[in-house]
Amino acid sequence: MAKKVLILGAGYGGLVCALEFRKQATASDAEVTLVNKHSYHQLITQLHETATGAKSDQTVRVSIEQTIAGKNIRFVKDTVTEIDREKRIVTCTGQELSYDLLVIALGSENEYFGIPGMKEHSLTLKSVNQARLIRTHVERCFAQYHYERTADYLTFVIGGAGFSGIELVGEFADAIPKWCAENNISRSMIKLYNVEAMPGILPGFEPELVAHAERSLKERGVTFLLGTPIVQVEPGKVHLKTGDVLETQTFIWTGGVRGHSVVMDAGFEAVPNGRSKVNEYLQALGNEDVYIIGDSCIIINSEINRPFPPTAQIAGQMGTATAKYLYSDLKGGKKTPFVPEIAGTVASLGRKDAIGRIGKSFRTTGRPAYIVKDLSNMRYLMKIGALFQR
Ligand code: NAD
Repeated sequence: MAKKVLILGAGYGGLVCALEFRKQATASDAEVTLVNKHSYHQLITQLHETATGAKSDQTVRVSIEQTIAGKNIRFVKDTVTEIDREKRIVTCTGQELSYDLLVIALGSENEYFGIPGMKEHSLTLKSVNQARLIRTHVERCFAQYHYERTADYLTFVIGGAGFSGIELVGEFADAIPKWCAENNISRSMIKLYNVEAMPGILPGFEPELVAHAERSLKERGVTFLLGTPIVQVEPGKVHLKTGDVLETQTFIWTGGVRGHSVVMDAGFEAVPNGRSKVNEYLQALGNEDVYIIGDSCIIINSEINRPFPPTAQIAGQMGTATAKYLYSDLKGGKKTPFVPEIAGTVASLGRKDAIGRIGKSFRTTGRPAYIVKDLSNMRYLMKIGALFQR
């Protein structure tokens, strides 16, 4: 009888896993069900572009139905609320689903570190809908300024100078001249801050790439406040450890991510920030019928003895590997331990600039780096068969 394979989440890990698994497994091998709370797959790595209106929402939404059409994957649009690993039942808002083999690819959630007011009074950037909130909020601030005439409407603060914060501040830097022109406001009236607790930006990038990023962004009007933890957020106010207060109507938090709460509540063994521990085949510890992939799990880079960052690139590779593991579970065959292959890492700095490392040692900046990023997005869309869909 066909086994029930249930995949939770149609992000980079879950969607790739479903598509790759179906390239091998026939209908008599397995029924495949993919659950996702939206009808679309989100290109989360590009959300900073829609948050400022540089691109439309359609460019970061990929229809799941269209992507899996004809591939014998059942799609359930629902929100997962509970995983019972003893009974092998997943509860969603509208139904219960049983499984023989489970793949958890639910992604991550924002980390607020318990900072007072942070969750309540910040905008965040983890979904198409949140990016739209940022965009409409900023438009409103420019419009409101003409009535209130207070500087806080023209002050934009982004908390965190990791990948997400830097890519977003780069888009803001490029969008501000256009916003100013549209709203008849002088550029000199705008303040754009990036506040970071650590002494530097973009941890993990080589010093010369970091220096390029910092210079490029400063030249376009970004003020960095480094070594400056945010300690409290109130409506209209961001409190810094230095005692200073930034008065702003726009505070966007990109200070980090933690494991998904549904996965944490299911009781899988996890590290303190909630990302689940897995074995070399991405199986939950003590539950070989459950794979946990993407941001929901944590794997260690043995070369530097630190966790691999939770990136789309690694999530997609985990999806491909898990498809093979599932097939081995059904048909037998040897499994090869999962080891990510990092093709490169590129961070955009707005519309025309970027920094990137290709392979282990090649470094690139400027327009070429930006093009590399675009090409890797296109390659991904080609892989899932969605390049010409949107
Ligand atoms: P991050 O953890 O990489 O960066 C968050 C930053 O916020 C850190 O530098 C941290 O020091 C800072 N911070 C934390 N608390 C603070 C405080 N109180 N005040 C001021 N600053 C504070 O988080 P991210 O940028 O959201 O990225 C999350 C993960 O996703 C990372 O591993 C990143 O590499 C990955 N990512 C990858 C891509 C990509 O590959 N295209 C894009 C975005 C994110």
